[in-house]
Amino acid sequence: MSRHARPGLPALVIAMAFAAGTSSSALAQTSRAEDALTKKARAIHEKVITLDTHIDFSPGDLAGERNYSQRLETQFNLPKMIDGGLDALFFSIYVGQTREAQNPDAFQAAGYERAYKAAIEKFDAVHRFTHEIAPDKIELALNAADVRRIKTQGKKIALMGVENGYPIGEEIARVKEFYDRGARYLSLTHNGHNQLADSHTGERDGWKWNGLSPLGKQAIAEMNRLGIMVDVSHASKESMMQTAGLSKAPIIASHSAARALCDISRNMDDEQLLALKKTGGVIQVVAYGGFVKTTKPDSPERAAALTALRKEFGLPEPTGPSQRARFQSALTQLSADKRAQYEKKLVDIDHEHPGDPPATIKDFVDHIDYAVKLIGIDHVGISSDFDGGGGVIGWNDASETFNVTLELVRRGYTEKKIEKLWGGNLLRVMDDVQRIAAELQK
Ligand SMILES: [Zn+2]
Repeated sequence: MSRHARPGLPALVIAMAFAAGTSSSALAQTSRAEDALTKKARAIHEKVITLDTHIDFSPGDLAGERNYSQRLETQFNLPKMIDGGLDALFFSIYVGQTREAQNPDAFQAAGYERAYKAAIEKFDAVHRFTHEIAPDKIELALNAADVRRIKTQGKKIALMGVENGYPIGEEIARVKEFYDRGARYLSLTHNGHNQLADSHTGERDGWKWNGLSPLGKQAIAEMNRLGIMVDVSHASKESMMQTAGLSKAPIIASHSAARALCDISRNMDDEQLLALKKTGGVIQVVAYGGFVKTTKPDSPERAAALTALRKEFGLPEPTGPSQRARFQSALTQLSADKRAQYEKKLVDIDHEHPGDPPATIKDFVDHIDYAVKLIGIDHVGISSDFDGGGGVIGWNDASETFNVTLELVRRGYTEKKIEKLWGGNLLRVMDDVQRIAAELQK
């Protein structure tokens, strides 16, 4: 979950790959090569465990009357997961950060209690979904061995990670409670500082702790002891670097990208990536448009033309994360005729008022390439942040997951490397964290 307002989706202009004048035999050859590439990618995609470490949900969507066993308008749900060949996901037990300016009791018992209740509602929804709604299709995994076993049994795999340590309040015992409820990672912060650590948002707002608080340090020790992965996505650089120095087990960034390619505070710079590697950890590169590409805002003319177009076709404004899936869905519900008219007008707008194209799967995989070159193939993984603002052209919902493998194959990644990126590395970290916890408990 990242809660950044997004500009309206500019049109996707499909560039023709072939220059005018290319001979038909050359075209046939290119298409045969493409078929072979797709076939190879398909075989790899089916074989490896594909694991996405960050997907958001609302408890009502996941386990309500209408729920994720159905093809809802959300970017993620079970039918889309099956279509895309995605094997495993971490459901994000996300709780937003309340600030004292909004609620004076944000960091008092009442504020912590509200956050705790929000977290419990999400834990309960995941349990209801996996145990009561779709137990024949998806199973909750509590360790890497579970993940591997469930994959061989042909079912989908659910895991849980807590996004924001805010709901543990000042009770370290709640780290164990969350572990017992199934959480296998816990991120120190979300957007805004909390009782455990400074958030990346301090680059704009100033600092509270200059890194970790004393309680945050205790929480990390407790996570190490229990075997919960410490997640540094959303944390400030200082919080993250201190965590890397302090943690006795490898740490993860469950959904972040490379700051060298997209300079925003949510991403990790080279020094951070190298420190993460040193812990034996992994960065799960996130397919979040605004984190993989710094897109220039639309000109006022373009923005006005796009708004008018959406209005003409009765399409909602795709202004925030929760609106994007709704927009996509409204688009697919247009008749073929209407859709063609819409696309044509979009092309006209692109021609008249060109915009900066939105992030694509290629921009996303550029971040994977960058991280692999800097810290090695053993320390990089994949996440989407679907239904929390994530998604790029080409991987905009779970049904398009195969495209990631295809792009990796296109760039020359071998099966062995793709297996590591798609979950092998994360599972290794889970095993390491569990083993270290067992040693610490002795
Ligand atoms: Zn997030």
